Amino acid sequence: MTAHILDGKAFAAKLRAQVATHVARLKTDHGIVPGLAVVLLGDDPASQVYVRNKGKMTVEVGMQNFEHRLPDTTSEADLLALVAQLNADPAVHGILVQLPLPAHLNSDLVINAIDPVKDVDGFHISNVGLLGTGQKAMVPCTPLGCLMLLRDYHGSLAGKHAVVIGRSNIVGKPMAQLLLGDSCTVTMAHSRTVDLATMVRQADIVVAAVGRAQMVPGDWIKPGATVIDVGINRIATDDGGTRLVGDVDFDSCAAVAGAITPVPGGVGPMTIACLLANTVTACSRANGLAEPVGLTV
Ligand code: NAD
Repeated sequence: MTAHILDGKAFAAKLRAQVATHVARLKTDHGIVPGLAVVLLGDDPASQVYVRNKGKMTVEVGMQNFEHRLPDTTSEADLLALVAQLNADPAVHGILVQLPLPAHLNSDLVINAIDPVKDVDGFHISNVGLLGTGQKAMVPCTPLGCLMLLRDYHGSLAGKHAVVIGRSNIVGKPMAQLLLGDSCTVTMAHSRTVDLATMVRQADIVVAAVGRAQMVPGDWIKPGATVIDVGINRIATDDGGTRLVGDVDFDSCAAVAGAITPVPGGVGPMTIACLLANTVTACSRANGLAEPVGLTV
């Protein structure tokens, strides 16, 4: 079997086009321009690239982009003051504080200082609670993108057995909540799981969010299963360069799976597209307008 490739790059481009249409409608019908504020501390090269890409795509879909680049020595009080200022700014509908924060700052404190309505990352404790109880939340971007790909391919996910590998607050836990919400039977696996291979072999849907290059081999995959690879790992190549790979061994898994996301070009592009979608959703909610269809779950 050769797996169907779940093309996140193409899906994300369509989602961004939908976002752009909603942004144009907000402008013409209501005179509102959605705005996204991104706060970045320090000069980590990967975060710099990520924030630059976000800014570029925010502008491309017609939204306002506000970037706040601060030194990594910024005090908690100064960062909290900036968050308070963005909370109060009516031109800002979404606030994202790029993680991880420098070690001297309390991430939970900072994230929970963001107005939950503007929390487009969906990490505020209110949004975590709303998602966990099946209520309308801001949904974290990466799992949201994974769910959109799964729904697009399968239609209904009801009754499927999903194994989520990884229990982070950013990916694994919200992913499990979303799959439960779609009536999957969900197993969460993590670093202390005993006999991960046997568990993964039972899955109709595997979501790997670990951060270990190519750790899931093809012989762990049930024939025909759907594999969502969230991992982004850089490995050395024979010619002395590097390349990006996921948490699953793509070639051996694609030979067994029914469908699989590639790395790059799978989940990664969906994350930024969902961030833009969340910002439009947040803007609509903040202004008491009907929520755009198709931008969230
Ligand atoms: P994390 O380090 O916070 O969590 C990793 C999880 O993997 C932990 O819960 C841990 O229990 C589990 N784990 C570790 N070793 C394991 C093992 N041997 N067997 C089973 N489970 C194990 O990471 P994260 O933030 O959830 O990110 C995971 C991966 O996804 C990383 O590669 C990250 O770069 C990537 N990521 C990608 C996107 C995207 O947009 N595509 C977004 C977020 C994260």
